[in-house]
Order: sequence, then C-alpha cells, then structure tokens
Amino acid sequence: MGNCQTHCYQKSASQVNSVDCTKLIIHVKTWQKEAFSLFDYENAANVQEQTFQINSDGYLVGRNQVEWTENESIIKDQLCKIKKKNENYYLVNSFVMNEDQKSVIQENEECHTIGNKTVSGKIGNKIWKVIHENGIPLKEGDVIKLGRVKFTIRSIVLDVQHVQSILEFESQQSSVSDQQMCRICCSSQQTAKNPLLNPCKCSGSIKYIHLECLKTWLRMKLENRQSENCTVYLWKNLECELCKFNFPPKFKSDDAYYDLIELSKPNDYPYLMMEFTNKQGQQIEWNNSSGVYIVKFSNSRDLRLGRSNDTDVRVNDISVSRNHARLFVSDNQVYLFDNHSKFGTLQQIREEKLQIQRGLEVQIGRSLISFQ
Ligand SMILES: [Zn+2]
Ligand SMILES: [Zn+2]
Repeated sequence: MGNCQTHCYQKSASQVNSVDCTKLIIHVKTWQKEAFSLFDYENAANVQEQTFQINSDGYLVGRNQVEWTENESIIKDQLCKIKKKNENYYLVNSFVMNEDQKSVIQENEECHTIGNKTVSGKIGNKIWKVIHENGIPLKEGDVIKLGRVKFTIRSIVLDVQHVQSILEFESQQSSVSDQQMCRICCSSQQTAKNPLLNPCKCSGSIKYIHLECLKTWLRMKLENRQSENCTVYLWKNLECELCKFNFPPKFKSDDAYYDLIELSKPNDYPYLMMEFTNKQGQQIEWNNSSGVYIVKFSNSRDLRLGRSNDTDVRVNDISVSRNHARLFVSDNQVYLFDNHSKFGTLQQIREEKLQIQRGLEVQIGRSLISFQ
C-alpha cells in the first residue's frame, strides 16, 4: 500500500521515501489445477505467487506461469489488458456478453484491438470481482457467484407502493368471441394487462388461459417456500397437464413474448429476484432445471445466504459455505457482502473499463489478481 491513498497514483509532495505512486503493483496467485474455477481462499497450497510492478500499458498473459508483456504482437493466453491514462490505471474488460455491448466496444477504439487477439474464439476472459466483507451494491443484470453457483439478478423492487400504483392502472376490458374463453375461470373477458393466451398445444374450448390465471397456476405448481424470507420456484420440463406440451422458458402468444421467470414476480412486498443459471455442476440438486429465488425483505433488511439450514436464503451446493454471504438493504439499495466464505463471492465485471483502485481483487481464468 505504501503511503498512497485510494484514487491516488500521483506523486505527492509529502512522498519522501521510495514508494513510487505512479507504479502499480500487481500480485498474482495462480491455481495449478482446474476445479470448477473455484479458488480455495482458506487453503493456498499448490498456488503459484508472482508480483509485478508496472508503469505503462500492457497485458497479463499465461496459464500456469503468468507474465507481464507490453508487446502486443506476442500475446498468447491473455488474461487481461491494463491501460494507463492520466496517472490512473484501468482494467480493460474484453469479454463481450451480448450484441449491445459488442457494438459499444466497436465504437470505442481503445478497446477494439483486443477483440481480435484472443485464441479461444470467444472474446476475452470473464473478469470476476472478488467481493469482500465491505460489500457492493447490486444492480439488475448483475451476475454473481457464490462458490460455483451462478445467479443473475433479474429484478430488485424495494419501493412496493410504486409497483402497486402501476398495477392499479387497469386498461379497458374487452370481450372476445364466446369461443375464446379461459379454461380456468371460464370468462371471455380480457384486458391488455390480463390477455387470453395460448401457451401450449391445446385447442378448441381449452385453448385459452388468462395471463393472471396462468400465473396463479404457475405459482401453485412451482412454489417451493424455503423460509419466511425466501421462495424458490423451480421447473424442469414444466408441461401442460392436458396436452403435455413442455412450456418453454419464454413463449410467444399473439406477437407478445412471456417469460416464465417474469411471471413468478410477486407484487406485494420488497424483493430481489435472482435466476440461477448454473448447469455445469454434477452434484447440484437442481441440475438441468431452471428457476428463480425470490428473496423478500418484508420483515428483515439483513438476510444470510448459505448452505446451512438456518440461513434465510439456502443455496444447497457443496461449494457454498454454511454462512456464505449477506444481503443487506440500505438507502433503497441492496448490498451483497461476503462472509469469509471458502470459495468466495464474486461479481462479474460488466464495465468495459474499470478504474483500478488499490485493494481491488479480480479472478480471471485460474488467477487471482490483486492491485496495490
Ligand atoms: Zn381465467
Ligand atoms: Zn395444453
């Protein structure tokens, strides 16, 4: 750390001795064995440690043995690019997740060159920020990992009044022909908010179902109440009981798309909804199934996540510690904290360029990279 303050990479007048604030110190720990990309924070055996001091743009490259290179033409096995600008250092995120982001990066000449340099076909490595006890605020769209279990934050709704006022706004009712009636409630009334849908292969008098009637049916079918503060919806080959058609996760009806995950949204309490997307682990109990966790902040602003039975949000996987992490609501934000877990709590970096603050730790490939 030296005498430098966070944010400061400039030489200050008070800097008398040898610490050169314009340099960035990088500590790299590389795990020699691949194990579901898990880093054992409690046991550092079989880990190669290296330190670099840099003062310019360049790349961290390599697999078992990491190297620093400033020569763009010899790059192989790139871990990440680091850019220096106005005495600040930036981590360049070359992992492109979707088309939107791809076009953003193409517009930005500084990042453009990286895309063509990687060998693996995909563009760059995912960069995971290591979450410490001081926590991070969560945003919709964030991807987080507890051990190897990956969640995407689908929605965060803390202002319930706001949600209710939207729901109270009802559009005009319309009645369609008598042949189109809901197979559940037998009504042929529909509104823009509650249309009659045909989500499966059923036809004739049982062809249609109201959006709201489908939601109620899904909740009854899928709900798996874990605790007072958490409900999990799981599905694996969710099928229509009549025609046995498998509901896809997203289905189309009359030119509109409906998403089973969105349909599980509650509307009467503050919540965070996260979808689990992990399919790689053999031992995960929900292997090959999909689902969402709905974490409610109705009677507590501070919830514990982990493998232990008495946690508020139970994540049952061997890579998750008994008391792994915490979710905490403050100032209309949800914060995620790690709780000294064995395999860590991580957040995928989505920014194209992240200013490196001292103390930042990231996981890339099999390496844990710390900046000081
Ligand atoms: Zn109905
Ligand atoms: Zn059907």
